[in-house]
Amino acid sequence: MSTVYTETLNRLIEEFGKLPGVGPKTAERLAFHILKAELAEAMALAKAIGDVKSKIKHCKICYNLSEQPTCQICADPRRDKELICVVEQPKDVIALEKTGACKWVYHVLGGHIAPLEGVEPSDLTIDQLVERVRTGNVKEMIMATNPNLAGDGTALYISSLLKNTGVKITRLARGLPTGSTIEYASGKMLTDAITGRQQLE
Ligand SMILES: [Zn+2]
Repeated sequence: MSTVYTETLNRLIEEFGKLPGVGPKTAERLAFHILKAELAEAMALAKAIGDVKSKIKHCKICYNLSEQPTCQICADPRRDKELICVVEQPKDVIALEKTGACKWVYHVLGGHIAPLEGVEPSDLTIDQLVERVRTGNVKEMIMATNPNLAGDGTALYISSLLKNTGVKITRLARGLPTGSTIEYASGKMLTDAITGRQQLE
C-alpha cells in the first residue's frame, strides 16, 4: 500500500479492494470519492452497509432473506403453500420471481451438496425442508437447484429422502441448458422450465 496516503485512507482503499471485481485503481477511486463526498452521503453508505448486516435475517419458514421473522412470500395468503420450490440461494428466488410465473412458496437450501468442498447435507437446510414436508400439507416439490452436476445431485438426494411421503417431486428442466445456473438464466428460459417441469423418478 502506498505510503503517500494517510493510514486511514489506505485502510479504506484496502477495504474497497476486497470487494469482488474491484481492482486497486478502482479501490483508490472509490476511496477518493468518499473522501470528497458530503458527510451525509458517506454516512448513508456506511449505514446501508451496517443495516444489511444487522437487519437482514433468514425467514424462519423458507430461509429466504427477510427483515421480518417470516418473509413476504411466506406471509402472502395468495401463495399456494402446497407447492414448494426448492432453490440453492436467495438470488435464485429473485430470478424466478421476476418471471411472474410463480404462485408457490420457496425453500432456500443455502447452497448445494459438495463433499469435495466440505459441504455436507447437514450444512444446508435439508432437515428443515423434510420437516416442512412432514408437518405441512405439501403436494408438490419443484426442484429448482441449478442444472449442473452439484444441483442435480442435491435434487436427487432430497428426492430420495422424500420418496415415501407421497409428495410429487418435479424438476425444472426444459429450456435450461445443462451446466448453467438459475441465477443467470433468462426470464423466458425460466418460464419454459417452470411450465415444462418433469417428474423426478
Ligand atoms: Zn419465507
